[in-house]
Amino acid sequence: MHEIQVHNTLSGKVEPFVPLKGNTVHMYTCGPTVYDFAHIGNFRTFVFQDILRRFLKLRGFELTHVMNLTDVDDRIIANSAAAGVSIREYTEKYVQAFFADCKTLSVQSPEHWIRATENIDSMVELIQRLQKKTYTYDSEGSIYYRIAKFKDYGKLSKVDLSGIQAGARVDNDRYEKESARDFALWKAPKPGEHFWETSLGPGRPGWHIECSAMAMKYLGETIDIHTGGIDLAFPHHENEIAQSEAATGKPFVRYWLHAEHLLVEGEKMSKSLGNFFTLRDLFGKGYKPSALRFALASVPYRRQLNFTFDGLQQATSSVERLRNFAARLKNEKFPAGKRAAMEDRIAKAASDFDAGLSDDLNTAQALAAVFDFVREANIAMDKGEFRQGEVKAAQDLLATFDKVFAVLEDNDGAKLKVLGYGGDEGGPDDAEIEKLVAERQAARQRRDFAESDRIRKELLGRGIILEDTKDGSVRWKRK
Ligand SMILES: [Zn+2]
Repeated sequence: MHEIQVHNTLSGKVEPFVPLKGNTVHMYTCGPTVYDFAHIGNFRTFVFQDILRRFLKLRGFELTHVMNLTDVDDRIIANSAAAGVSIREYTEKYVQAFFADCKTLSVQSPEHWIRATENIDSMVELIQRLQKKTYTYDSEGSIYYRIAKFKDYGKLSKVDLSGIQAGARVDNDRYEKESARDFALWKAPKPGEHFWETSLGPGRPGWHIECSAMAMKYLGETIDIHTGGIDLAFPHHENEIAQSEAATGKPFVRYWLHAEHLLVEGEKMSKSLGNFFTLRDLFGKGYKPSALRFALASVPYRRQLNFTFDGLQQATSSVERLRNFAARLKNEKFPAGKRAAMEDRIAKAASDFDAGLSDDLNTAQALAAVFDFVREANIAMDKGEFRQGEVKAAQDLLATFDKVFAVLEDNDGAKLKVLGYGGDEGGPDDAEIEKLVAERQAARQRRDFAESDRIRKELLGRGIILEDTKDGSVRWKRK
């Protein structure tokens, strides 16, 4: 096992990862703002944090992981007011869609899903702590954070504060680096907008205070890891630090991990360019969840990911190659015995896999370790050199791989069905396929080739491909 190293945006360096308290990792991930369906750029970040989470668990850490749902922000307030519905009513559809999308992509649930609207009290309390320490000022019913008073302001994003006018402030939750300003902690309601009646007066929280309050409520005042997309480093995470550290006097986050942007066919994804995709857009085009997860996970998180349809096609083949290999291990009969050379080869693949992920989650390196081994083992099998006694170790390697990458199980059809894609095209389930395969085997044994052919054709028509192997067994896979 290798020492785990991660790149910390705060220090700008790759550092050994050691949790603050014993074996438990306290981790916070900025979740989606549920005003629309999440897109594949969002899911690049969510798959990254899932790989991180799964790898830490594989390495024996306990996780206390919080992901929030931002269900109140400028856009939600505006959209729900325009639609004339409550915030809960407006956001619920997107919350449920997000949960379903995560499931489809095998993104594990964190230990705590929390909603901003259920934690308003904690936000009010945190603002009051900041008021007592005079980090705030009021203006027209809103409360602002005075960034000039927090001497470390800018330490995460390295934002240049020269030329910032004292007292210049901003009400929007999202703004550019060039306009670092005093930002709103609490916003006075505009006519027609939803608001909360609190001891601060009527209003609603700013976006940044939400994450500070919820992270500290569930994870304590100093947390191990905070993840998010790189676009959140400023202003959102910078402001989280300013709020939390001003209130507690303690370091807020020990390791900040940020995922780079995703491009589509080399261009920035945008609705106006027509290259904007939600998961559902891609599933509607017939792509599999496992292929999409693989494509998003295969590029190390700190590298820009250029999403292409060629790449997605390659990911589909890669997943298939792994599943075929797993099926060979399960179904074929190899000569008895085992050889030290193959055992060493498997141990090396396992070690290289761990080395890749330990090196700041270098998924490309980890995948190369597994694919190199699979290629060599397939060749050994074709030559009749792979032995039965080597099967278990090879299967263990795949199982370890899949604890992190989670693409081996052939359940894409079932997952798509849940989202309403495929319908009957989702095809027969495993049990029905196994039954038909067994019936076909029986027909072959009694030399009823017309029947065995009929079953093969029936399965093919329903999207199942059969492959007869040399040893007389049958492998099947979904098209
Ligand atoms: Zn956040």
